[in-house]
Amino acid sequence: SEISAVVSAHLRDVPDFPSPGILFKDIGPLIGDAQAFAAVTEHWRLRHQHRVDAVAGIDARGFIFGGALALALGVGFVPVRKAGKLPGPTVEKSYDLEYGSATLAVQRDALEPGQRVVVIDDVLATGGTARAACELIEEVDGKVTAFEVVLELAALDGRAKLSRWPVEALASS
Ligand code: IMP
Repeated sequence: SEISAVVSAHLRDVPDFPSPGILFKDIGPLIGDAQAFAAVTEHWRLRHQHRVDAVAGIDARGFIFGGALALALGVGFVPVRKAGKLPGPTVEKSYDLEYGSATLAVQRDALEPGQRVVVIDDVLATGGTARAACELIEEVDGKVTAFEVVLELAALDGRAKLSRWPVEALASS
């Protein structure tokens, strides 16, 4: 599709970042290009207008895309942050990474009960981050209508961890 081609043309492969052997997918060129950034936001706006009450973005690049989408939709934004950054009361969730673990947090009063939320991030890899974020939104009484990501690393099968929610990736590699 057109959006897939635009996204793919504005991603950059960075070898050995953040550590040797890792091929990092960099969204820098995408957000640095006004038309490409707007095309992503507009694609999501058309898909989710009239369907959501809030946008949640995952720390840290999900804040960039999610903040833009919230503004375009005219709804509020909920940051899903790394633990220890948000003033309490918060709800936290830990999950496994390839090496080690991580913890995400959301403010307990971020949503009204039953509010419909689209969750946004830049890259879907193993799916642990996305699943923790979606579960946190549910724990603060939101309803996750979809998980949206710019790029999916399909070989890692992150979708297997997200079978409870609709998942869309704008591009796949
Ligand atoms: P997962 O939990 O393994 O799915 O990892 C996804 C999280 O790690 C997301 O928040 C991404 O921002 C980040 N991530 C993993 N790989 C990449 C990458 O190649 N580029 C940018 N972010 C990545």
